[in-house]
Amino acid sequence: MSKGKKRIVIVGGGFAGLAAAKRLRRYHSRFEITLLDKRQTSDFLPLVPDVISGKVGESRTRYSLTSFASENGCDFVCTKAEDIDAARQVVKTHTGAFPYDYLVLACGTQTTFFNREEISSKAYVLDSTADAVKLREEAAKGDFRTAVVVGGGYTGVETATHLRRLFKRQKENKRIVIVELGSQILSQVPAGFRAYTLANLKNMSIEVKTQTTVQDMEGGTVMLTDGTTIEEAVLVWEPGVAAPKLADTLGVEQGAQRRVKVDPYLQASQRCFVAGDSALPMDETNVPLRLSVQFALQEGACAADNIVRREEQRPLRALRPLDLGYVIPMANNRSAGKALGIPVYGVAATSLHYFMCMLRAQGSETRWGVFRDLCSHR
Ligand SMILES: Cc1cc2nc3c(=O)[nH]c(=O)nc-3n(C[C@H](O)[C@H](O)[C@H](O)COP(=O)(O)OP(=O)(O)OC[C@H]3O[C@@H](n4cnc5c(N)ncnc54)[C@H](O)[C@@H]3O)c2cc1C
Repeated sequence: MSKGKKRIVIVGGGFAGLAAAKRLRRYHSRFEITLLDKRQTSDFLPLVPDVISGKVGESRTRYSLTSFASENGCDFVCTKAEDIDAARQVVKTHTGAFPYDYLVLACGTQTTFFNREEISSKAYVLDSTADAVKLREEAAKGDFRTAVVVGGGYTGVETATHLRRLFKRQKENKRIVIVELGSQILSQVPAGFRAYTLANLKNMSIEVKTQTTVQDMEGGTVMLTDGTTIEEAVLVWEPGVAAPKLADTLGVEQGAQRRVKVDPYLQASQRCFVAGDSALPMDETNVPLRLSVQFALQEGACAADNIVRREEQRPLRALRPLDLGYVIPMANNRSAGKALGIPVYGVAATSLHYFMCMLRAQGSETRWGVFRDLCSHR
């Protein structure tokens, strides 16, 4: 360790982790920053569904963390953090231990099987670019007649529409069914958006079954809880996410989706800040912030600022989340969403989604690459 420098370990090179590292860039004389990620690349998750249909190339959604580290003056180690020893201030990985003065835990969330591990080996998930490529390759083989997408949230809906786009390009008339355990899809959005989305899904010949989930899968046959079976099927599992097991090892209180409870300054403890999807900060009405890129970016920056403030013995700043809105992206460009409180539909909503993606992409090369892909695959 460089003499006198405090060690900051950032676990997770996603939106929150990279926002924290960027914010700390100008404090190199005071901090030694080490970024840990289990992958070599930072995956741009909002464009991962587009990789399924080829609307965006897979190289656009992966950004080298080695490049990021060299551009931002931090160290990058590709390793999976297995355990956090908060008492000794050490992150343990299979390749070694990383002691810290401050920890930023930004390990996101991942697909949860709700203790139904028997399904995990049979289903496709969408946690990374590699997952989207796997699903696309399975679809290219074409050994199935129906895609069953479990979960009628944002990602389930978006995935189903990209599968339709892919099948259309392959000139295949495969069936797509979204199954949702709740009484409606997209339960968290206003009724108008839900109705618009349902109409668009119908238009794209995507069926929706509510109050239903998967009982089991044997061979290529999916058994649903409403008693029906679907033969020659592939299963795409997207009913929910949870913070990875690593978050449990912090030994502090966790809430919904195993996200770590934090105070308004994003502290889980004096030396540990949690940012992004793995944190559970509240908005001004005491409702948990939804999982989204904009909040992950804001939290990463806030956690970094508070490390600097703590070192300078200044009061910490509370997170003041700014909600710009959201979009339910659909692959036929008929999306729906809200920008600054104003509802937007159709191509306008799609353009807004991709504009935000380009704005947040790492590096101008990736940004232009996404733009070119979108222009050539409208
Ligand atoms: C398919 C999909 C589409 C989405 N679309 C949108 C969208 O359109 N708009 C939007 O706002 N949000 C969208 N989201 C949600 C958004 O991507 C997340 O809110 C955002 O990525 C959260 O950022 P994060 O930094 O907390 O986590 P992530 O971006 O998930 O980054 C976490 C990082 O931690 C690493 N990591 C995890 N565990 C470990 C470990 N044990 N050791 C080392 N490294 C580890 C991971 O490899 C990853 O790089 C989407 C999510 C998915 C899955």
